[in-house]
Amino acid sequence: MINIELKIYPDELLRKVSKEVKNIDQKLSKIYDEMCILMNNEKGIGLAAPQIGINERFFISKDFSNDSDKTIIFINPEIIEADDIVESKEGCLSIPGHYDYVKRNNRILVSYFDLSGKNEKKEFLDMQSIVFQHELDHLDGILFPDRLPKIRKDIFFKKIDKEFKK
Ligand SMILES: [Zn+2]
Repeated sequence: MINIELKIYPDELLRKVSKEVKNIDQKLSKIYDEMCILMNNEKGIGLAAPQIGINERFFISKDFSNDSDKTIIFINPEIIEADDIVESKEGCLSIPGHYDYVKRNNRILVSYFDLSGKNEKKEFLDMQSIVFQHELDHLDGILFPDRLPKIRKDIFFKKIDKEFKK
C-alpha cells in the first residue's frame, strides 16, 4: 500500500511544473487507487498528482458523463482545442474552504493516455471540461485564484495567506 497525503497551500510542490509520465505501470495504477480513495474521502471532484506531492503529469476526475461513480485518470493530458468562455465557481482541496469565480472554456478537445497506455482523444463540455482545466493547471503549478482578475486575486491571496501561511 502506498500512503499519500494531501498537500495544502502554500506547499511549494503545488507550484512546480510537473514532468511527463514515462512509465504507465503497476505503481501508477496503485497511486490511482489511493488518489480515488483520498478524493472521495475529501468529497472532491478532481485531484492532481502535485496535490499529493508527486510532480508528474497526471490527474483524476469524476466521470460526469453519467450517474456512475467512475473516476477517470488522465495521463500526460493536453488540450488541443478550446472555446466558449464560461464562469465557474471553483474551490480546491489544496485551498480548503475558499471559493471564487474563474473563467474557463466550456468546450475542449483533449488528448491523454489511460492506464492501459492507450491514447484517447475526447471532447468535453461543462463540468468535465472545467474540472479538466482546473486539474491541468495544477500540473503547471497554477492554482485557480491565479486566474482571477488582479484586484480579486490580491484579495483572495491576502485571505489565504492569512489563514494558511504561518
Ligand atoms: Zn485544485
